[in-house]
Amino acid sequence: MRIVLMGPPGAGKGTQAKRLVDEFGMAHLSSGDIFRAVRASGSDLGERLAKYMDAGELVPDELVVSMMAEAIAGNDSTGGIMLDGFPRTVPQAEALDEQLARAGTPLDAVVLIVADDDLIVERITGRRSCPACGKIFHVKFMPSGNGEFCDACGDGQVALVHREDDREDVVRQRLAAYAAQTQPVVDYYRDAGLEMIELNGNGDPEEVAAELMKAMRTVGLHS
Ligand code: AMP
Repeated sequence: MRIVLMGPPGAGKGTQAKRLVDEFGMAHLSSGDIFRAVRASGSDLGERLAKYMDAGELVPDELVVSMMAEAIAGNDSTGGIMLDGFPRTVPQAEALDEQLARAGTPLDAVVLIVADDDLIVERITGRRSCPACGKIFHVKFMPSGNGEFCDACGDGQVALVHREDDREDVVRQRLAAYAAQTQPVVDYYRDAGLEMIELNGNGDPEEVAAELMKAMRTVGLHS
């Protein structure tokens, strides 16, 4: 099963992706996570990525397509793939279609999670994450039981981080990039007749997860 998880930043894609991985054993390929790992390596490529990411702008298609093609080709999980944050432009979607068609493994469905802009800004600016285990917190909605430190890993000594691109001005820029460049990808998949599971991400993550699990079963995915 190959699924594309779409929606604006802060709609809850990361949280729901984790549920899908736990429930169905799918491999989670997040372009944002892959790019942050390249940045952390300190390479020249990482520096090029940083320039776009810190401004809330999209990384150019040719860079994105080659990095994601490599990640997809290198994935050997048997539980299927969930793409998160990719594709974000129509040329990326076309390149993905070509790669998957060559491999004889086309997409099965798109999961689209939407949410209101003001709620998204509140969610993202309060978001904190653990650099060691990846657990995501929110200063108001889901605080760590250990203050500014992760409550899930290490020995209580791992300080949570506030992503550079989670500042309000950058978040607004990311939302504008989503509307201009990524919304057309939703239309692209609709026009292609792909199964589209639409969820309202404004609510409680547990309710969204329950709806998502129900929808996944209707497209034939079983845990
Ligand atoms: P995310 O964690 O998915 O919000 O991604 C963080 C940042 O990485 C984005 O704001 C973009 O700068 C960059 N990025 C991630 N995925 C893509 C993509 N598919 N196309 C272009 N830029 C991307």
